[in-house]
Amino acid sequence: MLDIRIRDGAICEIGELLRPEDQEEVIDARNAYVAPGFIDMHVHLREPGNPEKETIATGCAAAVAGGFTALAAMPNTHPALDTPEMVRWVKESAERAGLARVYPIAAITHGREGKEPVDFAALSRAGAVAFSDDGNTIESAIVQTSAALRARESGRVFITHCENAAIKERDEFDPAAESSAVARDIAIARATSLPWHIAHVSTRDAVDAIAEAKQLRITCTAEATPHHLVFTRDDAAQFSAGTKVHPPLRSAVDVDALRHAVRNGTIDAFASDHAPHADGTSPGFSGLEVAIGAYALALPDLPVRRYVELLSCNPARILGVPGGTLTVGSPADVTIFADRDWVVDPADFHSKGKRTPFSGKSLPRRAITTIVAGSVVMENRRVSARSAR
Ligand SMILES: [Zn+2]
Repeated sequence: MLDIRIRDGAICEIGELLRPEDQEEVIDARNAYVAPGFIDMHVHLREPGNPEKETIATGCAAAVAGGFTALAAMPNTHPALDTPEMVRWVKESAERAGLARVYPIAAITHGREGKEPVDFAALSRAGAVAFSDDGNTIESAIVQTSAALRARESGRVFITHCENAAIKERDEFDPAAESSAVARDIAIARATSLPWHIAHVSTRDAVDAIAEAKQLRITCTAEATPHHLVFTRDDAAQFSAGTKVHPPLRSAVDVDALRHAVRNGTIDAFASDHAPHADGTSPGFSGLEVAIGAYALALPDLPVRRYVELLSCNPARILGVPGGTLTVGSPADVTIFADRDWVVDPADFHSKGKRTPFSGKSLPRRAITTIVAGSVVMENRRVSARSAR
């Protein structure tokens, strides 16, 4: 068993039986795991545009309550995050909230319309860590390819939402809508050598395509969500909450393939696709506060070391952001979690979005303490901003 000493927002010492020095607060993490801070690389904060669904502050409170020290914010806000000014505004708003670190993802095309690529260099300089038109699949392969070529200099990853609109329109549950879009984007990643990340993979065929891409050494990574790892479309029939989500819940064969892909490394990251809504009909679930328990529910056999890789080390590496390590000198972003059963009650959520298929479900793991830059921002679900302490 090791102790960690934190000073001035960074980890300054790791060793056995460290002695607390004057004024130092001691956190007892016995019977729990101490991990580098979890990073949720797929979150929808609804600001600017829809503060009734979520604000940057409530989204960040949900993040730290769920055990996340950082999140990457998708650009499908109103307006879309496609200017340096807006990227800076999101970062500043998150800084004021004083909870989780927020890494903005900027749009690939202006207004996420799939037509005109954004100014990748300027957005990257403003703090965008990745680019995505998430929610939309860029229909034109020519636009997608020229955008990828222009983005290369920024060194930033493209994150793509892969659902072919024409196939989906014919049959919203056809898995080919996903696998055909994934195959196309892998081909573009290969042709352009841009690092590429496939969002919310949900089908066996997409998993196979990504595994093959990795064998070919194409720079392609992928993520899986809690709901796609736990529920099938048949389960969805029993939910009282709405079940609509993009991509849709799939078959038992797909869920099995996705879990297997997490175990064998085809899937690199867990990501919640936190999508809060004020109504009961729009697609998407509130994910931040159930995610880490849901991953453990889906994969009880997954070694904790690998679990932490998927929640911390790999998201940090894919996004090129700090974190994913507890070595001396690194920022003191720490998640303490434990294997404790608890029952999901959305009324307790810090998020304004209360809709989740996990409502009433028992989950086997939860976050106990969340530390950002050396400050405790969550302890036993009580959230307090860094500045407030
Ligand atoms: Zn998406």
